[in-house]
Amino acid sequence: MFCDIVAGKIPATVVNKTDRTLAFRDINPQAATHVLVVPTEHHEDAGVLAAADPGLLAEVLTAGVEVARAEGIVETGYRFVFNTGPDAGRTVFHAHLHVLGGEQLGLFGRLGR
Ligand code: AMP
Repeated sequence: MFCDIVAGKIPATVVNKTDRTLAFRDINPQAATHVLVVPTEHHEDAGVLAAADPGLLAEVLTAGVEVARAEGIVETGYRFVFNTGPDAGRTVFHAHLHVLGGEQLGLFGRLGR
């Protein structure tokens, strides 16, 4: 489905674009700043991407840092998240980095903590 956003078939609020990555606001934000960074080429998840093209994974992370800078949250702090598999609640099968920040974030890990 993120391939459709990359192709412009599904609208998104794009905040950053490089040759091989696209960053857009999450439709259901979990923090004041919640942006997703995807490789424009399709890879199933972060592990697959790391194995297939580690340089592209580095570009996704670098774009995430650029997003944090543009959002003004480098000093206050931010969190990078890759969800993989059902226990992590992963819903979209196109590798994507969550960039979360802009306010104090909760703890993460086991449910109820
Ligand atoms: P994950 O649980 O890691 O697979 O995260 C998928 C994320 O994609 C969720 O945070 C959704 O809110 C977000 N999402 C789903 N559809 C869209 C969309 N069309 N535009 C922006 N974000 C989306």
